[in-house]
Amino acid sequence: MKLEAVELYRLDLAFRRPVGTAAGTHRRRPVAFLRILTDTGDGWGECAAMEGGTSVDPAFEAVWKAIATTGVDRLRAAADARGGELPPAAQVGPLFGGGDHAPVAATVEMAVLDAELRARGEPLWRRLGVDPSVAAAGAAVGSLVGIPADRGLDTLVGAVSAAAARSVRVRLKIEPGWDVEPVRVVRRAFPALSLQVDANASYRLGSGGLDDASRLAALDGAGLTCIEQPLSPADLTALADVAALLETPVCLDESLTSLRRMRDAFRYGACEVACIKPARFGGVLGARRAQQECAEAGVPAFVGGFFETGFARLAHAALAGLPGFTLPGDLSDPAGYLVADPVEYPVRAGRIAPYDAPGVAPVPELGSPVLRWA
Ligand code: MG
Repeated sequence: MKLEAVELYRLDLAFRRPVGTAAGTHRRRPVAFLRILTDTGDGWGECAAMEGGTSVDPAFEAVWKAIATTGVDRLRAAADARGGELPPAAQVGPLFGGGDHAPVAATVEMAVLDAELRARGEPLWRRLGVDPSVAAAGAAVGSLVGIPADRGLDTLVGAVSAAAARSVRVRLKIEPGWDVEPVRVVRRAFPALSLQVDANASYRLGSGGLDDASRLAALDGAGLTCIEQPLSPADLTALADVAALLETPVCLDESLTSLRRMRDAFRYGACEVACIKPARFGGVLGARRAQQECAEAGVPAFVGGFFETGFARLAHAALAGLPGFTLPGDLSDPAGYLVADPVEYPVRAGRIAPYDAPGVAPVPELGSPVLRWA
């Protein structure tokens, strides 16, 4: 496949309603798409970076610039070194390394993978090695419910009711002061619902921290699948202490920014459930490796998300069919949180089947590119 041109697109989407988290409120969702044009067809990759980033992920504008410079430069240099041939998707990650370049690598890898799959006539789930019967059944969909802007318990119950109708698991955002009572009210309203909470690193141990530890312990007994990222991502010792203290399993998200960090967390006993976000592992191929290591360590895992469009979510739906992903992933319909979606995302009865045609997902409807390299 000869690399002929590269294009960068931008969608400026908005959230249907602000999504409140302990780490801030999400209002807008700019999305970048990279298109790779070759002599045998095109490939598309979606960038996961959020407008303001997170405590451990770079913000959208920084990643956009990095894709337009480092991302395109290294891809074209790799092709030049191969006489103009596109490098295989499996070789894209090593062009970039990890850290802040991980979301750039993930975007480029998805586009190269998409081009390869379309050229070979193969769907992503097959390339990843997902069992055909698992792919046909579709992946279980989990939904997220943020902290309501009005902090109303009735508003929360209404949002959970809507989310529960579209998915098989609901994840509530919590923070100190918005935790014990909201969880109690939701659990009372939905006794059988598969429920987990996400604290986005908002609790503290240490001086005055006894109170935070007891607040977290007060969530034991609510039948939660897990408490996600209760403490600061880097403090694996404290996370291990909390994991030992709580009956509810501790899930790590922001702590899992690379395979090395994930192995450290396992070694500390800090990670009882893993939220694997492909963009942090350099793409779906890195995430496949991560779920394999979770399976080997006996740690349940799920595919995490950054409020992607249906394009990346279909890639994640394929990934979620791998055996290490034992819990429902962040695979809810983007129509539930974004004002528009450039691809169709057909959730049925709380499950999403991966795209079953050549490529990662259908070609997204994007308009004209912002930048082009011929
Ligand atoms: Mg999280």
